[in-house]
Amino acid sequence: MSMFVRDPCGLMCIFLTYIAVFYADYVVVRWVIMQTMQDSLWAPFHVVLFNTVIFLVSFSHLRAMCSDPGAVPLPQSRMDFSDIHSGSDTTLIQHEDWTVCTRCETYRPPRAHHCRICKRCIRRMDHHCPWINNCVGERNQKYFIQFLVCVGILSFYAIILVITSWVKACPTCSSEITVRQSRIVHCIILVMESSLFGIFVLAILYDQIEAILNDETTIEQLQAAKGSMSIHKIIMSQICRLPCYSGSLSHRSTLNTHSV
Ligand SMILES: [Zn+2]
Ligand SMILES: [Zn+2]
Repeated sequence: MSMFVRDPCGLMCIFLTYIAVFYADYVVVRWVIMQTMQDSLWAPFHVVLFNTVIFLVSFSHLRAMCSDPGAVPLPQSRMDFSDIHSGSDTTLIQHEDWTVCTRCETYRPPRAHHCRICKRCIRRMDHHCPWINNCVGERNQKYFIQFLVCVGILSFYAIILVITSWVKACPTCSSEITVRQSRIVHCIILVMESSLFGIFVLAILYDQIEAILNDETTIEQLQAAKGSMSIHKIIMSQICRLPCYSGSLSHRSTLNTHSV
């Protein structure tokens, strides 16, 4: 089952992601490879390899975005939850570790959490990521990690290409001042963009691997830590939401966002 979440923040992040990827491709091909390697066989090699990595980024992104993160099926018929809704403290009915979500009214397995943005309960939900406009859960975490790895490789590759193009002597490079200036500006923007995305995905990747090794989702880490959350963890837990929810840098608001 595929899912498409109509979240303005998520759609904006997807748009930004593809703008950034296509801009990187433009700069690498037009201002790095075509300018500095035009007479070399390295030019077609790097064009093909760089665009292959871009294809892998797009492919893994689409898979993470469109695949089902592990949504718990909605009930066929509405059940009467009036007694739960009227309860003041308890929001869940406990029954052999399975619980009933009072928001989407599904009977859900242990470790499933409700996402307010997807409006569904997700099995082993890690967090909702606007960059893939989807939840990261039991079934799409592998695609999300593939996406992070591919973005990391693309960022690293772009930086390496820019550095080598400036370090190596380039007798065929245009000496025209406007061309040179354009090349400098585009290369600076690309290095800044790649560094930002590179650090960003490495930080999230570190957290994802740590969560898998400890068999503990980000939500569970936040719940376990209660008030004693380290600043590193708070920033890491929020890094996916920075573009849209930067005002809510607190442990409590994180839990609220996830509606645990
Ligand atoms: Zn729910
Ligand atoms: Zn979600």
